[in-house]
Amino acid sequence: HEPVPSDIEIASEQRPKNISDVAEEIGLYKNEVNLYGKKKAKVSLKVLERLNHVENGNYVVVTGITPTPLGEGKSTTAIGLVQALGAHLNKNVFACVRQPSQGPTFGIKGGAAGGGYSQVIPMDEFNLHLTGDIHAITASNNLLAAAIDARIFHESTQSDKALYSRLVPSKKNGERIFSAIQIRRLEKLGITERDPNKLTDEERTRFARLDIDPDTVTWQRVIDTNDRFLRKITIGQSATEKGRVRSAQFDITVASEVMAVLALTTSMEDMREKLGKMVVATSFNGSPVTADDLGITGALTVLMRDAIEPNLMQTLEGTPVFVHAGPFANIAHGNSSILADKIALKLTGPDGFVITEAGFGADIGMEKFFNIKCRRSGLIPSVVVLVATVRAIKMHGGGPAVVAGQPLAREYSEENLDLLEKGFSNPRKQIENAQMFGVPVVFALNRFASDTDKEVEIALRLARESGAIDAVSAYHWSHGGLGAVDLAKSVVKATESRSKFQFLYELNLPIAEKIEIIAKKIYGADGIELSPEAQAKVDLYTKQGFGDLPICMAKTHLSLSHKPELKGAPTGFVLPIRDIRASVGAGFLYPLVGTMSTMPGLPTRPCFYDIDIDPDTSEIKGLF
Ligand code: ADP
Repeated sequence: HEPVPSDIEIASEQRPKNISDVAEEIGLYKNEVNLYGKKKAKVSLKVLERLNHVENGNYVVVTGITPTPLGEGKSTTAIGLVQALGAHLNKNVFACVRQPSQGPTFGIKGGAAGGGYSQVIPMDEFNLHLTGDIHAITASNNLLAAAIDARIFHESTQSDKALYSRLVPSKKNGERIFSAIQIRRLEKLGITERDPNKLTDEERTRFARLDIDPDTVTWQRVIDTNDRFLRKITIGQSATEKGRVRSAQFDITVASEVMAVLALTTSMEDMREKLGKMVVATSFNGSPVTADDLGITGALTVLMRDAIEPNLMQTLEGTPVFVHAGPFANIAHGNSSILADKIALKLTGPDGFVITEAGFGADIGMEKFFNIKCRRSGLIPSVVVLVATVRAIKMHGGGPAVVAGQPLAREYSEENLDLLEKGFSNPRKQIENAQMFGVPVVFALNRFASDTDKEVEIALRLARESGAIDAVSAYHWSHGGLGAVDLAKSVVKATESRSKFQFLYELNLPIAEKIEIIAKKIYGADGIELSPEAQAKVDLYTKQGFGDLPICMAKTHLSLSHKPELKGAPTGFVLPIRDIRASVGAGFLYPLVGTMSTMPGLPTRPCFYDIDIDPDTSEIKGLF
């Protein structure tokens, strides 16, 4: 097709297969599939048990060079590649992608179903509510937020005695019993007595009072909308809260720790444990207060019961896709779920291919994929596909900035070998980064219509010279899977050379050393500088026993350094660590490099201007 129609036009022209047929084709049993309408289904975790004996498929991660506003096409390439492998080379395949947040869909970036002739369909369902997982996270997160403030309120308005008798009420016959979660709290406090009537007054008070210091509450409310006016709010202003006013904030749902837990969990039991361990505040005596202390672990898990199952969809060419979890790639790890990857690897079997995508550039999404996600899952990646475009490489070489509302500069639509060669410093560094993990790298040049043959030839040569095992250009955006057959062949070939996968750091190293290894090796920094706050957190977390967690850097994705304006592969900088936070439930520490917004805002002209519905057919327009 010339010109290529819009994403939603392409997506709605193709009639998806019934998802029950897709499920049958890939060997799922009927009782393992929970249909959500005709085009989406949830897949039971029981598959993992049934296929426990099957060897895993080849595990391929798609990542990119440092992102620019010109786009690199990681999602599009992941889908194009899987279409090529499945629909053209007849391999068993699965794509595993993140569920997009409604923030960017209606805000600045648009949807994330891929693009052109390489998409997940139906793309409107993909980009909107899907099966409600993000809503479940919002509900779960906010129940916990409400529980924290209610608990602070109740503790401050009730006597020890009243509080205890309300927490452990007596039944009609005067009998009091502890619930399972209360017994866990007794265990934590080292109280051995299990008969509620026999606790001493001192034990009752210790049991009943969490003594949360309201100034230390780190748990925020969330909503999945880019609503900048919720970045700082005041809560408790109604007279009924008797003056217990405090300032708080909303984060976007995908930045919630509950989302990170979903993405990193390995079973229902494990999810419950992780949700229970989430630290939400500190008590007046300095100990961490968890969701479990609030007695809410079971309820949070109940709200997430369905969300834990991966969502089955399909590509434009009918190959299977799991859409599951979508944690923010800065303050969280930016990768789809471990469970989706695990199930997909069993379903494809040893000769098959699972293509999973990591957010942002290789310095962020891929580094976290290896050091956090693979460490947690125990899965061994076979190949890295590093996506780049000629236009984005030129921007790294000093090409002009993109100005909203202005036409694209000539440098990007006309041949410019000088900018291309200069800008290759970025892909070169990102290829090196992937190689540090011992995994072979295939360089994928996602071709734009404006790229000249000479530019493509040079980019591919430079990629091979930088250590990529192969470098191929691909036309999947304009030609679908057929346009990525060369890429697919080279990925298949790359899996033949054994991956010597290794982590970048060991968990038992001191916190600062782990951060320094990432900064120096992956970002190219000379070293790190911890602020006094960050140093205090290093001491605190080490003391609290969280020092062995992996590191999830919260750094700008727009540069290998901490300064978004520094393109290419900057050197000679010291990485400032402003603060360090902990996601104890999800299982990582996240150092803040500069300020990180956890609630995006809407731009002057948001995507929603173009989104509309045909009232007669209910067809959606303007999603891209
Ligand atoms: P990423 O995953 O790297 O953020 P996407 O795959 O979502 O990037 O692509 C970003 C946008 O660029 C999408 O709207 C997609 O349709 C478009 N795009 C991707 N590849 C091409 C291409 N080769 N030509 C034109 N547009 C493309």
